[in-house]
Amino acid sequence: MVTMLQMVLRFGFFTLFGLFRVTTHHKLLFQNFFTLYNVKDYISSIQRIFPDFYLLQNAKEFLMQQYGIKQSFLETLFEPGVRSIYSQNLDNYNIIAALVNVQASNSATLRTFKHGNRNFFETAVRMITCQARYNHLHLNQSIVSIEKKTESYVITLEDGSTREFDAVVIAVPLEVSGISFINLEKVNKYIQSSSREFIKTHLATVKGKVNPAYFGLSHPSQVPNLITTTKTSEHEACPFLSVQTLWRSKEDQYTVTKILSKHPISKEQFQQMFLDIQEVQHFEFPYAYPKLRPLREEELKAPTQLDATPGGGLYYINSIETIASAMEASVYSAKNVAHMVVKKLSQ
Ligand SMILES: Cc1cc2nc3c(=O)[nH]c(=O)nc-3n(C[C@H](O)[C@H](O)[C@H](O)COP(=O)(O)OP(=O)(O)OC[C@H]3O[C@@H](n4cnc5c(N)ncnc54)[C@H](O)[C@@H]3O)c2cc1C
Repeated sequence: MVTMLQMVLRFGFFTLFGLFRVTTHHKLLFQNFFTLYNVKDYISSIQRIFPDFYLLQNAKEFLMQQYGIKQSFLETLFEPGVRSIYSQNLDNYNIIAALVNVQASNSATLRTFKHGNRNFFETAVRMITCQARYNHLHLNQSIVSIEKKTESYVITLEDGSTREFDAVVIAVPLEVSGISFINLEKVNKYIQSSSREFIKTHLATVKGKVNPAYFGLSHPSQVPNLITTTKTSEHEACPFLSVQTLWRSKEDQYTVTKILSKHPISKEQFQQMFLDIQEVQHFEFPYAYPKLRPLREEELKAPTQLDATPGGGLYYINSIETIASAMEASVYSAKNVAHMVVKKLSQ
């Protein structure tokens, strides 16, 4: 209640009312999206599930002009969320991605997998590989090329071996896959004309004791579980986008902390942030997400079916990431493609 009052005093009633209206108006948009998941049909271009209006507009202008939300609110409280979820600023950002941010921060029922998402993936792989007839898994092998033959596609793996399929589903952004497409001119043209840019993100997890003084505090218990940053922090050479405590020991003051940053954090910077470092793990995501800008007209029909010739069976899941990169969106897009494959194979 006190926080609400402080927000009203700082940003004005209309900003908070505008925010309330945004969340209630657009809840429906996402509910429709999830309803579509249960529909047993497909759409040829996944972008079609959202009205063009949402895809083409700039989020900042939209929130300010349509909902009367103050720029100072967007820059102080909204943008830090965008930075910690998508490593981007709110300038030239698309509305759907912005609404994903609103939904993510509003979700009362976040679901997590025990021991992390990796456990889900490993269980799925175990279930697949223990069934002999599905034992076609080639892990840690890049696909080098996909060649169209008269009624099939030949895939060449990194080790030079080839496999032939009636249908192929691509689940990696085409621009970064490094796959050569042979006899598939339209796919090559699509890749060449794509103007999607990808954001590089660094994620580090640190087990250690947080140094409260680094954050201007006097005791480790005062360090909040989530620290986000505003765009201005970039001029102040702040090394991170967000710092999040994942685990806190009850006995001593050790924590496991997740740090997202645009650049790798140096050993010296870690030593300033933590007093007794026990372990650091660093992951680099060179193509973490596409830059989530408003779409261009020609991107509204980004194809899900890459080979539209009669009998074509080359499908693409990741075009949905141009709008917003999230597992839910990828799962929906994957299911949409599964319907397409079933239809093709049953013809
Ligand atoms: C730091 C970070 C945090 C995130 N947090 C969340 C979150 O909290 N919630 C959420 O919903 N989403 C989150 N996301 C987004 C989420 O990870 C993506 O939406 C999701 O991973 C997309 O799944 P995908 O299978 O399409 O692509 P990916 O997971 O990127 O998988 C593509 C795979 O293809 C492989 N590959 C590439 N080229 C080839 C080739 N030539 N041959 C064979 N294989 C190839 C890659 O190695 C990779 O394993 C996060 C992303 C990042 C980077």
